Amino acid sequence: MSKNVLVVGAGVIGLSTGIRLLEDGWDVSIWSSKFSPNTTSDVAAALWYPFLSAPVEKTDAWGSRTYDILKELSHNPDTGIVMTQTYEYFREKQPDPSWRNSVDNFQRLSDNLPSDYVECFSFISSVIEMPMYLEWLSNKYVSLGGNLVHKTISDFVELPEDFEIVINCTGLDAGKLVEDEEVYPIRGQILRIKSNIEEMHLDQQIPTLAYIVPRSNDMILGGVAQQNNWDLDISEEDRDFILEKCSKLIPELKEADIIEELVGLRPGRSSVRLEKEMVSGKPLIHNYGHGGSGVTLSWGCAEDVVELVNDR
Ligand SMILES: Cc1cc2nc3c(=O)[nH]c(=O)nc-3n(C[C@H](O)[C@H](O)[C@H](O)COP(=O)(O)OP(=O)(O)OC[C@H]3O[C@@H](n4cnc5c(N)ncnc54)[C@H](O)[C@@H]3O)c2cc1C
Repeated sequence: MSKNVLVVGAGVIGLSTGIRLLEDGWDVSIWSSKFSPNTTSDVAAALWYPFLSAPVEKTDAWGSRTYDILKELSHNPDTGIVMTQTYEYFREKQPDPSWRNSVDNFQRLSDNLPSDYVECFSFISSVIEMPMYLEWLSNKYVSLGGNLVHKTISDFVELPEDFEIVINCTGLDAGKLVEDEEVYPIRGQILRIKSNIEEMHLDQQIPTLAYIVPRSNDMILGGVAQQNNWDLDISEEDRDFILEKCSKLIPELKEADIIEELVGLRPGRSSVRLEKEMVSGKPLIHNYGHGGSGVTLSWGCAEDVVELVNDR
């Protein structure tokens, strides 16, 4: 007998969750107001790195699981995932990151750093080329028998009758859909440029935030992380700020040839909401509020949703 689940949302969280549920034997439909290339997930840089998400004990576990899966998926070029040499620079001495044992080849470097930087973590991270990856996720979901429907829901007060369980993967919109006041936007802006640089270079401290992310035919430069800023327009001021910060790491980027600029609102929350509540006698499972780490946490969270679905 088929067991019907409705996933609401078709960003990286909804698609990953849908795939794991199908693999677990559920009959899954995704309803979504937007699909790739029009979701926030399309704007992600995207690299594996736990950033602007909490609580750390959970994000480390979800992140570690996701790292292993992204590494496995990187063997398939259709996924758009490449395991990439990464350098993260610091202006002050740092303790080890909590995720140190999740990544490959972690080392500390202190020689030949950009000026003003005193320390560097060297490790392998994944670069996830989102337009390709979301297409691959969507194709994988459909090939497993999943159904995609263009549909906008107005709330989760009454759950649709045809489904035994509903999963809320609506990202930033979850704030108004379930009246969750802990959800807030963290505005980001990125530049797509031409470049031949092959390694990833990062400064993940908010005031000096700079990420240089190499992809197959372009490179992403970021970024900004502006809490409670809902503005989706491109800001020239932010563009200049991003170029200035990135050129502190790689001076030649000051003259970068910009192909495109994108803005997105990260779904911020005090902590990721991954839990079950009962609505009119049916389980509603929430999976939203991943901040700047939705891609980084996606598979770990999807697998925890499957656990909650089966624990009825
Ligand atoms: C500039 C920028 C850079 C980033 N870089 C990274 C990075 O390097 N690594 C990383 O891990 N993360 C990164 N992120 C964060 C990442 O993009 C998010 O955490 C992630 O996309 C959240 O995924 P989601 O599926 O929850 O949300 P979304 O992608 O927003 O998807 C939500 C889905 O829900 C649907 N939906 C919403 N409301 C309704 C409704 N009422 N009815 C039906 N459907 C609805 C939407 O249409 C959409 O399909 C970045 C974000 C930005 C903006």
